[in-house]
Amino acid sequence: MKSEFAFIEQIKKRAATRRAADLRLGIGDDAAILRQREGRETLVTVDLLVEDVDFKLDYAIPHWLGHKALAVSLSDIAAMGGSPKFSLLTLAIPKQSPISNLQSENFWEAFFEGYFALASEHGIVLVGGDISSTLGGLALDSMVIGHCAAGKAVRRSGARVGDGVYVTGALGASASGLRLLLDGARVNEAEASPAQSAIRAHLRSAPRVEFGRLAGESGLAHSMIDVSDGLAQDLLHICEESQVAAILDFDAVPIAEAVKLVTADADAAFSLAVGGGEDFELLLTADRGNEQALFDLASRCELPFARIGTITARDGAHPVRVSHGGDAKPLSIRGFDHFDV
Ligand code: ADP
Ligand code: MG
Repeated sequence: MKSEFAFIEQIKKRAATRRAADLRLGIGDDAAILRQREGRETLVTVDLLVEDVDFKLDYAIPHWLGHKALAVSLSDIAAMGGSPKFSLLTLAIPKQSPISNLQSENFWEAFFEGYFALASEHGIVLVGGDISSTLGGLALDSMVIGHCAAGKAVRRSGARVGDGVYVTGALGASASGLRLLLDGARVNEAEASPAQSAIRAHLRSAPRVEFGRLAGESGLAHSMIDVSDGLAQDLLHICEESQVAAILDFDAVPIAEAVKLVTADADAAFSLAVGGGEDFELLLTADRGNEQALFDLASRCELPFARIGTITARDGAHPVRVSHGGDAKPLSIRGFDHFDV
């Protein structure tokens, strides 16, 4: 069994294989030192993943869990239109469990394999973290630091009346994968089936790092958010922060193929696509005049892209409505809320 210090030493060795221009000091001191640059702003985000709340070890696979821990935070920086650069990772490791006391080297070996593979794909350097133990389940606290040109960050609050509403990719794959896992399906990396790709979408989502950065740098997006709580909830966040309303076009919402695995009904499929969380696609609003430029940007990133609605003025009605043939009706589907009972 390894000590905490030997464990950190191993993480440090892995992290040190990558250098970054703005990094003066990485893992090893009491704090990391990052260089600042004129004309830039720093973006900071953190996500807490708790066993049995945000993931389950009985169907997680360690290298995908490592990937996901970083992916969720990269997605937040992408949603601000920034470039992620550095990360920190804090681990609370159970005292009593199959992976207690850092005993299972295989688990952590695989976990960091997944974490660092995604980090190197996007040029991220791990610059610090912390380790403690817990009497409960495993907890992973993932932090990412990025930057953008001063004033260029894309907020939730920038949507304007008349904007188109756009989304990358397709929705509902992650929720479908979760449904399959809860029904007893398990990861089989060797199998290339629709069910396995749905499960993969849930356990190993790909953050839209490049598209987010380009949407920010180009100044094309008025507002942006990543789809983590479900489209209905995330669009509501944009509407609330921007003091506007939105009408979604039922037929335009791109529904992932995987949704067919769990329902054949069009209304149920729509509900799963807009109510299910963790797709980690990007939802944005932009001037209709910039639509073609956004489609071009998405195709550069090899991402499907769709206009799914319009931003309207706020009136007394529910801020997010859906039009399906006739009149627009309030979208009552709610996304995930940790405080729901
Ligand atoms: P301190 O007592 O100051 O918290 P630690 O012994 O916990 O110092 O950490 C020593 C160094 O190792 C620090 O630079 C810290 O950022 C880094 N570190 C600790 N845990 C992790 C981790 N899980 N991932 C990455 N770096 C870590
Ligand atoms: Mg410490």
